[in-house]
Amino acid sequence: MTGNIANTSASRFYFGTRSHGQFTRRRFLAVASAASVALPKSVQAVAGHTGMRRAMLANIAGMTARTAASTGVVEIDPKVMDAIGRVLRHEFVPPELSGYAYENRPLPIGYGQTISQPYIVALMTHLIAPETHHRVLEVGTGSGYQAAVLAELVDRVHTIEIVPGLALEATERLPRLGYENVEVRLDDGYFGWPAAEPFNAIVVTAAASHVPPPLVAQLAPSGALVIPVGQPFSVQMLLLIRKRADGQVSVRQILPVRFVPLTGGH
Ligand code: SAH
Repeated sequence: MTGNIANTSASRFYFGTRSHGQFTRRRFLAVASAASVALPKSVQAVAGHTGMRRAMLANIAGMTARTAASTGVVEIDPKVMDAIGRVLRHEFVPPELSGYAYENRPLPIGYGQTISQPYIVALMTHLIAPETHHRVLEVGTGSGYQAAVLAELVDRVHTIEIVPGLALEATERLPRLGYENVEVRLDDGYFGWPAAEPFNAIVVTAAASHVPPPLVAQLAPSGALVIPVGQPFSVQMLLLIRKRADGQVSVRQILPVRFVPLTGGH
């Protein structure tokens, strides 16, 4: 089974000797000293790392093909791949890990959390079939990377993070990188974002024990919700939930995955 698991939380695998405290301190120092010069996205996209980004896309395409029997996805929508190719993932990881930013693996981002594996970001983004006019909700902002990929594709992204430090960092990082169409909120995403509903799509990037009913309620007709559901600290099932135009809901199992848990009071 392990060969088929898209592991999004394997920070210990690479960094078992480092405490989260060390990561956290360095991260804050790095953020405090980061230059806040906003360059247009197009200019940033050509500035370095091009070869590595291309290799990462090839890696994602390969993994998509290998998992197609389970996911039913043979190829990621080219416009999703283009969006991933434009986002500077090295800006979303701690500076000391930027050398790994274009490898197809999750990485620690402090606070015991991880930035998801690029393949999983590609798959989840593909599954919601984003359209330019869409309004999308993400639960689990983390670094803001998935939100940036979504922001490349849709008009409006709302994203909720429960860890104050991460929400703060993403609030600073996204506009600095040119993403003005993302709104970050510090809250428990289990309850969605009632003031901004309905959403054409919802992406949950933390593992829930069940599908949160408020999220299904905030999904627009013909909307899609993608969410890992299962035991925390174990293997979960990535689910694709669709709300039909008549309000009927269908569920499809996509792939066994491993995500950090959805926390909060619920
Ligand atoms: N999408 C992120 C990675 C997600 S890691 C990225 O692209 O970097 C999962 C994130 O979900 C973590 O940052 C965690 O703090 C957050 N999270 C966990 N429970 C949550 C909740 N109830 N509401 C909002 N965010 C939550």
